[in-house]
Amino acid sequence: MRDRVTTDPATDEARTTDEAQPENASAAPRLHLGANLAALRGHNSAVVLGLLRDAGERGASRTELAARTGLTPQAVSKITARLRAAGLAAEAGRRASTGGKPAAVLRLVPTAAHAVGLHLDRDALTVTLVDLTGAAVATRTAPLAFGAGERAVLDAVTAEVAALLSQAGAAGAPGAVLGVGVAAPGPLDHTAGVLHRVTGFPQWDGFPLCEALGARLGLPVVLDKDTNAAALGLVLRGGAFRGGSFAYLHLGTGLGAGLVLGGAVHRGARTGAGEFGHQVLQLDGPPCPCGDRGCLEVLCLGAVADGDTARAARLLGIGAANLVRLLDIDLVLLGGRTVLAAPEPYAEGVRAVLAGAAPVAVAPGGGGTVVEGAAELVLAPLFGRAGFITCPDQPTGTTIGSSGGI
Ligand SMILES: [Zn+2]
Repeated sequence: MRDRVTTDPATDEARTTDEAQPENASAAPRLHLGANLAALRGHNSAVVLGLLRDAGERGASRTELAARTGLTPQAVSKITARLRAAGLAAEAGRRASTGGKPAAVLRLVPTAAHAVGLHLDRDALTVTLVDLTGAAVATRTAPLAFGAGERAVLDAVTAEVAALLSQAGAAGAPGAVLGVGVAAPGPLDHTAGVLHRVTGFPQWDGFPLCEALGARLGLPVVLDKDTNAAALGLVLRGGAFRGGSFAYLHLGTGLGAGLVLGGAVHRGARTGAGEFGHQVLQLDGPPCPCGDRGCLEVLCLGAVADGDTARAARLLGIGAANLVRLLDIDLVLLGGRTVLAAPEPYAEGVRAVLAGAAPVAVAPGGGGTVVEGAAELVLAPLFGRAGFITCPDQPTGTTIGSSGGI
């Protein structure tokens, strides 16, 4: 399958217009990148960089890149020259090609830049620094009282991010930090970077988290729901999940879903998609902190609190079956702290209810699924996997170990 480029590959002329498109007007607005990433002009450059990331250690030749993108070899050569000059890609030997001389192989330089992922949970915060492949370089976790007020939460986040960058700098991690991707419980508005009435913590309603955190950290900040961040990370890392449709069901301090439809995270216009936990299963059931009654989340968390894993898993399965019937998805992935504490009983319980309607598995990545997905919110646009809108007027990135910014 070809990765999409911004021009019609049918004509040679159209295929060489990457140079004429300093910004792709049809793509979502992108991060304000550091000067060293100025090479990523145009969506096509990002697509090429994305293919290099996907190629991993094996790398890719210019001919392969041209075949995958539909760009002309000349356009690919110009793009890869820029990526090399920026330190984002490097030559990595040659290998035999079909006919002709061995082709030069290019690889992504993972340490050329990094991104911070932040998972704000109701009782803990986790920060991680990842390289351009999405691999975690350093990770820290600290307790958090999400209801303690904005100053306390921002102080805690600022301290942990500073400690993370200092830890990574001490370990010798080089390169720029492009920004911070925040995964938080919903509901929220990912386009404005604003929290809404977070279930259980309505006092956050209307808080401009991206703006406030960006000002504190001196870094661009992007925000998404924890479940969407996890789903994005699974799409970007797992070749098996790409192009298809799946639901990532997250059972931890809350219950929600990240939906991937046709290979793209489905957020909805108001980031309202995936409020899986607030489907009403029991009319006049127990009150839910969202204001409704008998929601799947309150029933499921109630079973968890009672230590009744079988019932919690069955409830999760009933919700999953509703979702599969509604969206005809290919796969159900389970994650979150509660599931990871008893992965097999949850997978079996959900599988039993679904009865073969869709396969069920525990999401790969363990406890890092959400926080590493959060970092991918920052990285995705670099690799032409945009579909993500950044908050306006954000500061530019910083460098690991630099004194400014934090
Ligand atoms: Zn509810």
